[in-house]
Amino acid sequence: MSAGWTVHKFGGTSLADADRYRAACDIVLSQQSGERVAVVVSAMSGVTNALIESVNLASTQDESYLEKLQALESRHLKTITTLQLRNDQSSALKETIVSNFNAIKEVLRGVWITRLASERIIEFVSGHGELWSAQLMHAYLVAQDHHSSWLDAREVLVVEPNTNSVAVDWQLSKQKIQTSLAQHPETDFLIITGYIAATHDGVATTLKRNGSDLSASIFGALLGADAVTIWTDVDGVFSADPRRVPDAVVVPELSYQEAAELAYFGAKVIHPNTMSPAIANNITVWIKNTFKPDAPGTRISATSPTDVPIKGFAAVENMVLINVEGTGMIGIPGVAHKIFGALRAVDVSVVMISQASSEHSICFAVPREHADLAKKTVEQTFVVEMQRGEIQTVDLTEGCLHHRDGRQRHD
Ligand code: ADP
Ligand code: ASP
Ligand code: MG
Repeated sequence: MSAGWTVHKFGGTSLADADRYRAACDIVLSQQSGERVAVVVSAMSGVTNALIESVNLASTQDESYLEKLQALESRHLKTITTLQLRNDQSSALKETIVSNFNAIKEVLRGVWITRLASERIIEFVSGHGELWSAQLMHAYLVAQDHHSSWLDAREVLVVEPNTNSVAVDWQLSKQKIQTSLAQHPETDFLIITGYIAATHDGVATTLKRNGSDLSASIFGALLGADAVTIWTDVDGVFSADPRRVPDAVVVPELSYQEAAELAYFGAKVIHPNTMSPAIANNITVWIKNTFKPDAPGTRISATSPTDVPIKGFAAVENMVLINVEGTGMIGIPGVAHKIFGALRAVDVSVVMISQASSEHSICFAVPREHADLAKKTVEQTFVVEMQRGEIQTVDLTEGCLHHRDGRQRHD
């Protein structure tokens, strides 16, 4: 029987250039412990943003989309040269990349003409960074005489996209990955594209922004791994965003629930949905620093020490508070139902709700991009009540932070 799998994931912050690919490979090699190694990779830093921007520029008929693509193409070709691959590998990979960019240019020509950047096109184009990244790392390992294969996750990972996330078809994905692994029985390293997947119809899709962390725990589950290590540019999960709070400290251990809470409430270091496959399969998740691989990092598992009451603090930016106020709301049943029903009908997700016990006002928080729609919807819903003066104001407060502590719960 072949050995089990361990999974490592490298984020874009750890894959900026050829030196960082080398450093990532050194880490993977130094961590080998007899198991086969799956490496889930993000695109090089900034690539996904640039690809999405190029689609958006083309849709507004801004010619600079071509320069943006050109810069990305050159960056990838230069990285191949600097990695000093074997000549045959180097020219094959360069050819693939040039041909991918030509295909993207054709797609974006269509976007330019129609001025239409459909979701499907954005998903298709934005996933290319991971395809290039996986092939780069694979080629480098082969150049160092290692048994490596690379896997386009769209061939095995089948998902159904929802509004903000995806539902994995576990059964089908497991079958597909087993078939794919059977084709590489000798491989020690399997380099897998993070972020991308396919729908049941075979259409290219993504796990949404920052989704490579989720890819790592999904592949951990599909491969039956005991541990997944997420390598990033900080020492672990900090008690607060280290960019904002210089005194923040690394939290050595977190439970899945604590990590999920911090992630949902803005700790960008992990994608919020990463924990679900880990919980279901009891996979230990480590967060570690590629720049300091020997630092202990953060261990996330089913249990965590309970002696510290608050583990961390996270904040979501760009929230807006909407306050609905009126004397005509007091004691009238169904006002909240009406507000949130109307918001649901227009697909606005409410992040936080508070109602004064006097029932004189209801206040709720929504992301900035939904604020105007939310306000307009509430005003339309209560147009009669506003005319009669029963509801006096629907106010909007900009620039709020929504924060949350990762408190240990004992319920
Ligand atoms: P990657 O490219 O490795 O996925 P990200 O940029 O997505 O990296 O996430 C790492 C960043 O998350 C860190 O550089 C850090 O600034 C930010 N961050 C926000 N909140 C936290 C937190 N509580 N702990 C650690 N990092 C955090
Ligand atoms: N490259 C993708 C993004 O920037 C996915 C990831 O890095 O997690 O959103
Ligand atoms: Mg990330």
